[in-house]
This record gives sequence, structure tokens and C-alpha cells, in this order.
Amino acid sequence: MTGNASRYLRAQDVSVSLGGRDILSHVSLAFAPGQVTAIVGPNGAGKSTLLTSLVGLRAPGHGQVVLEGSAILAMSARERARRIAYLPQTPEIAWGLDVRTFVRLGRTAHTGVFGESAADAFAVDAALASTGLSGFAARDIRTLSGGERARAHIARALAGEPDWLVADEPLTGLDLGHQLDAADLLKGAAARGMGVVVSVHDLGFAVRAADRIVVMMEGQILSDGAPAEALTAEVLAKAYAVDAHWVAGQSGPLLDVIARRGLS
Ligand code: ADP
Ligand code: MG
Repeated sequence: MTGNASRYLRAQDVSVSLGGRDILSHVSLAFAPGQVTAIVGPNGAGKSTLLTSLVGLRAPGHGQVVLEGSAILAMSARERARRIAYLPQTPEIAWGLDVRTFVRLGRTAHTGVFGESAADAFAVDAALASTGLSGFAARDIRTLSGGERARAHIARALAGEPDWLVADEPLTGLDLGHQLDAADLLKGAAARGMGVVVSVHDLGFAVRAADRIVVMMEGQILSDGAPAEALTAEVLAKAYAVDAHWVAGQSGPLLDVIARRGLS
């Protein structure tokens, strides 16, 4: 299911230091198309820094990111944008656009800002439908709730029909039902061949949505594998300083957080 290794998105020995501190230290990861990989870890672990490096918005001090055999920093911004949709952690929408026009911006790397081909229209409508926003198409984006806006950002990313989706906590602000919808959306995109790399805080969501979980801590990879392998009690204790273990739930494994370590 992981396909040809030349189609991977790779971080090769990537290090980033900011303000004299090592934020990422020799991180090597290979992401496969057709998979959802969740990046988890405590606040400040370096998740956002990794994601901005992966999409070519940050030049690592050491190492490099290679997209399907080419150094990401050697690509033009347009080429990168066509192949990777990136959703930042706190995306801003400054202007009063209607939702459809906003989602249409996801097509810019294909056809420019003006004009709309049949393919553009089809992709935009499909993205609106898949995020449950068809009925919001004419609304001013500034009038949406936080969760609706989060879905509009996902729709914009999907409208570009990228090969890769790199999203930094895209579920923030989504209620439980829409989180499940978003999980299905990401899994569906991966099933159609997209490579999905997504940072998430909710470990239950990570387990539900991801084929693979990478646990980061202090700029390094603490653990990496299938959800049950990556999130052991030992890893959870180390990464989050909590005593927790998995229990059998009706829909699958559930994380039972017993106590903050050292406080019980
Ligand atoms: P995460 O997304 O896992 O919460 P980040 O990648 O945002 O982590 O940040 C990792 C660490 O890098 C944090 O400790 C943060 O304070 C630090 N950091 C981020 N940007 C800068 C910067 N410009 N200068 C100094 N430190 C920074
Ligand atoms: Mg972050």
C-alpha cells in the first residue's frame, strides 16, 4: 500500500535551530502516499516547525526535505503549492470573501486567480460538498463559526487536488461530529492516493484517523509506528508526563488517562 519509495516525502536529517535553541534535531522521516500520518507530541515539541520545513516554507539549518526525488527548496513556490497543500496552525482570513471564492483560492496554483475552468468549478464544488459547506457557498467567510471556518480551510486545501496534504492541527474548533467527518475525509483522501501528514492534539482522533503515528518530543522522534505500537504507556508517560493506558472501547481502543505523573 505504500507504493514506490521514489514517491515519498522525506525529511532527511533535518535540524532547525531558532534563537540559539535546537528546535529540530536530526529528524529523518519518510512519508508514504496513500497514508495518513499523525504527528503528535506535547506543546513545543517541534511539530509546527517540522511541518513548515516539510512544505518548503522553512530552510533547515542542516539536512533537507525531498519531495518525490526533488529537493523541495529547489522547486518554485507555484510547483510546491500545486503538489502540497499546507494548512497552517492558525490560518488567517483577512478579507470578506464568500466561501466559494475562498475555496476557489485553492486552485490558484493551477489556473491563477482569475477565470474558472470546468475542472476548477468541479474541484471547488467537490471540496465544498465533502466538507459539508455547499450550503455556505455564498456566505461571507467572516460570518462563519470557528468550526465552519476550519472546514472552509480544509475545503480550500482539497480544492487544489494536491498529491500531499500537510495540515497543522486542522481539527481545532471542530465539534465531535465534524472531527469524525474530518477523520473520514482525510482517510478517504489517502485511500485515493493522497499523502496526508497532520499534526493533532487529540490522541483518540490520531488513533482513529491515522495509519501511522509519529510522537515528537523536544525536537526529536520519540516513537513512530502503527497507532498501538507508537503510543505505548511508556511513550505517553515520557511525552506527556501522564499515566495512561489503552482500554478496549466499542469503536476501538480508548485512551484511559489515569493521572498526571508525579501528582497522584
Ligand atoms: P509545536 O508545534 O510542537 O507546539 P513548534 O514547532 O511550534 O512546536 O515550536 C517548537 C519550539 O520552538 C517551541 O519551544 C517554540 O517556542 C520554539 N520556537 C518557535 N519559533 C521560534 C522562534 N522564532 N524563535 C525561538 N524559538 C522558537
Ligand atoms: Mg504547533
